[in-house]
Amino acid sequence: MNTATTRQTPNRRLEILASRLTEIQVDAILVTNETNVGYLSGFTGDSSYLLVQPGRTAILTDGRYETQIAAECPQLETAIRPPGQGMLDLIKELLSGTDLGRIGFESAHVSVAEFAQLRQKCPNVEWVQTSGVVEDQRIIKDASEIEITRQAVRIAERTFQSVVAKLRPDWSEQEIAYELESTMRFLGASGVSFSPIVAAGPSGALPHYHSSPNPIGDAATLLIDWGAFYQGYASDITRTLHREHASDRFRRAYDAVLEAQLTAIQAIRPGAAAKDVDEAARQTLQKAGLGDAFKHGLGHGTGLEIHEAPRLSAISDETLQTGMIITVEPGVYFEGDFGIRIEDDVLVTETGHEVLSTLPKGLDECRMML
Ligand code: ZN
Ligand code: ZN
Repeated sequence: MNTATTRQTPNRRLEILASRLTEIQVDAILVTNETNVGYLSGFTGDSSYLLVQPGRTAILTDGRYETQIAAECPQLETAIRPPGQGMLDLIKELLSGTDLGRIGFESAHVSVAEFAQLRQKCPNVEWVQTSGVVEDQRIIKDASEIEITRQAVRIAERTFQSVVAKLRPDWSEQEIAYELESTMRFLGASGVSFSPIVAAGPSGALPHYHSSPNPIGDAATLLIDWGAFYQGYASDITRTLHREHASDRFRRAYDAVLEAQLTAIQAIRPGAAAKDVDEAARQTLQKAGLGDAFKHGLGHGTGLEIHEAPRLSAISDETLQTGMIITVEPGVYFEGDFGIRIEDDVLVTETGHEVLSTLPKGLDECRMML
């Protein structure tokens, strides 16, 4: 499926999903994951499900959303539960007039208790566990999703430039993180795609560090990992800055991480195995004697969620396809000393790849002047 060059309306997304139901051997699918509901229908509210079958989709919701649904997805049949009726009873009511025999459900997004109730309330339906059906569709971005992601990246980049220009040694990691958050919002983001990680010196050695109230002081290095949500889509970038007095060990490691990142990016093209791209970075760091310090997978897809398929890791069995957007983020971590991670967002194109984030990342370009 190559949809990267065309714009898909939510209607088209529903048609594609409906056309895949035969392949997963169900007559209909109940979509309960909020992000998937929004992706398929254009609905931006919550607490609503979709029942998708060929030629017919119903949105199951409550009275609060009647007006919003009429505006956002007028093409859908709407089933509204009155106060006092539970969602599962609405499903029962909706299904009672149909002859749907096998209905798929999203097994990762239905609790065991809900599943038991579905079976009890709709005993004539054979409920079929599915996993990743809509997520598989989301993995390939269409032209409008790519354009929105470019904006999410642009907001993150302008934010970084603005905040770095203001940095002072008496700023704490938390203050820098708040400044990143508020600047992203100021520039049009709906929010942060995750809480920014700002880690000075040895704190950078913890890959999922929480920024502290301590001033950055004279720390030799500063790792910043941040991203914006813009119109629903995430960006995710990391830069590692340093000061004049950073050690030779840091400088050598930095060059190796950058080389690993550039080598991995070069390996990105449609048809490449995700694990081979990971391996390209891993081998580069191994050759530099830093293989053991690279303690995580190389990257992940981004989209409506900050972490999506595909995964770029040694255990990934996915193949890259045109229209995927992935991060490439090798890192090395030295306890008590420093951490280095360099992360960019990369679009898989028909001819190879396009790096969407363009902030400078050479060692000299990442020197802080405080
Ligand atoms: Zn990141
Ligand atoms: Zn990331």
